[in-house]
Amino acid sequence: MRTPGMVGGSMLTRRLFCGCLPLAATIVASNAFAAAPDCAVFTPERRNAVSPAEAIERLKAGNQRFVSGATINCDLMAQVKETAHAQAPFAAILGCIDSRVPPELVFDQRIGDVFCARIAGNFVDTDILGSFEFATKVAGARAIVVLGHSSCGAIKGAVDDVKLGNLTAMLANIRPAADAVKTDAERTSANHDFVQAVAEENVRRAVAQLTERSEVLAALVEAGELRIAGAMHDLATGKVTFLA
Ligand SMILES: [Zn+2]
Repeated sequence: MRTPGMVGGSMLTRRLFCGCLPLAATIVASNAFAAAPDCAVFTPERRNAVSPAEAIERLKAGNQRFVSGATINCDLMAQVKETAHAQAPFAAILGCIDSRVPPELVFDQRIGDVFCARIAGNFVDTDILGSFEFATKVAGARAIVVLGHSSCGAIKGAVDDVKLGNLTAMLANIRPAADAVKTDAERTSANHDFVQAVAEENVRRAVAQLTERSEVLAALVEAGELRIAGAMHDLATGKVTFLA
């Protein structure tokens, strides 16, 4: 009786003998990638056909694929070639630098799909505002998502008032969110619920500041050409929950 492995070995041997292995390998390789439209890169026309609300829904659907293990496997080098001379991403994401929350992966997006700005604690400053004004007003992205996450080290640092080099000034951007969260419980990073509440407050503040501090973004939202949303990623599950 043959084991499955032996059967495979015998088939491989026959392919080698008949000289058709390169063909078989080509078929296997092409089948490994999803086909259009899933892997079609965004063009200005395709991007413009996505409404701001649909842009958010695309990201939600992408995270659903991510958590269910159904991510789309595209030929990334084909996408590199197709986007070499132009890009038309449908969304922009402000995320944390945390290695466990790469926006393209958790939203199941690929080359040319989304702009990403990442900074520890995903807060808004002048450079982030300028980056997103480019991503939307100039380059046409239809939505911005501020993506915070659970157990964020930057949030913990701000909560504990950590002092270290340039980190001190950076964490000052997050302190207002920590100060705004009311609790009778311990106000340190040891309090998981407090850290989570501050992270959510920090996201809400970033969402508000994108329009409060940018006339360009505010005008796009006012015109219905841009939607801005906040969301939290759960490190334990990979799931992204959009804030109401
Ligand atoms: Zn973080």
